[in-house]
Amino acid sequence: MSPSSHKPSILVVDDTPDNIDVLKDALKRDCIVRPALDGATALKIASADPKPDLILLDIMMPKMDGYEVMRRLQADEDTRQIPVIFVTAISGIESELKGFKLGAVDYITKPFNPVIVRARVGTHLELREARRKLETQNRELQAKSDLLEEIVNLDSLTGISNRRHFDQVLEAEWCRAMRNNAPLSILVADIDYFKKFNDRYGHVEGDKCLRSVAQCLPSLLQRPTDLVARYGGEEFVAILPETDMKGAAQLAENWRAGVAQLRIPHDVSSVADHVTISVGYASITPAREQSSYFLVGVADEMLYQSKEKGRNLVCGKEIQPFI
Ligand code: GH3
Ligand code: MG
Ligand code: MG
Repeated sequence: MSPSSHKPSILVVDDTPDNIDVLKDALKRDCIVRPALDGATALKIASADPKPDLILLDIMMPKMDGYEVMRRLQADEDTRQIPVIFVTAISGIESELKGFKLGAVDYITKPFNPVIVRARVGTHLELREARRKLETQNRELQAKSDLLEEIVNLDSLTGISNRRHFDQVLEAEWCRAMRNNAPLSILVADIDYFKKFNDRYGHVEGDKCLRSVAQCLPSLLQRPTDLVARYGGEEFVAILPETDMKGAAQLAENWRAGVAQLRIPHDVSSVADHVTISVGYASITPAREQSSYFLVGVADEMLYQSKEKGRNLVCGKEIQPFI
């Protein structure tokens, strides 16, 4: 009856014990039948674990009738998924329709034929099993897709965000800053004399150095909305929402000092005996006519200035709004 190896459990709700016995006889070969003689007991069994796989529900019962039991089953997140078949002496389109409207999957009128009951119960158990499998597959697919989404946003060498993610977040933050009329700043950092570092210490050490810097830079920013990414090669960027020129200048200096403090030996650097970075930054309160690329471009120009002025330095610029 059920495609799974374990016997499905069926909750049979009826205030007449004889009716329960008849249904039990019809189903006991393939199912475990759990009886309930009133609505309150039925609800208790339905919400306790392990939950029944299906419910056969009588309508006319004293105190709480089957419709009310059904309403309560549907109202509870935990029991909503259990398929319910009304088994009742009430025949007629209206009561049948009412049952379906309340969420029943089927409606069987008494007196019933045990073979038909078995067949219908079997069909609904199979449907439920198929739906469960689909839900599990969907959950697994969603988890895989979430993981992929995360992976495509990460730089494989350093584990921090990559340029793709930076571009996406920048676009979103640009729009947010524009809506809120708030400042937005960008930092661009580049390791000084990194080619010489690779030549002197080898590419493996070079990669290690990139990882150390990539780990250090985010730790120097505090806000959860700040984003650090590897822009490419030995260049790193940060998006700093709601951060003005003054704040950006401070954070750029923190980056410069923080990397210097790592004291990664670099004895062929012309500016220090350890690894240093040069930083450029730019701040803006975005307006509709401008683009986020422009902001990155200015930060890049400022980085170039830091290099020109001697490296291990920070330079920045506030972009004035168009009048
Ligand atoms: P500057 O101070 O002007 O920035 O000089 P630089 O040598 O750092 O700059 P340049 O652009 O001439 O060289 C960058 C070097 O970074 C060249 C390349 O070998 C190295 N590099 C880029 N990506 C990687 C990487 O993933 N791993 C390693 N080990 N080195 C990299
Ligand atoms: Mg460099
Ligand atoms: Mg470079």
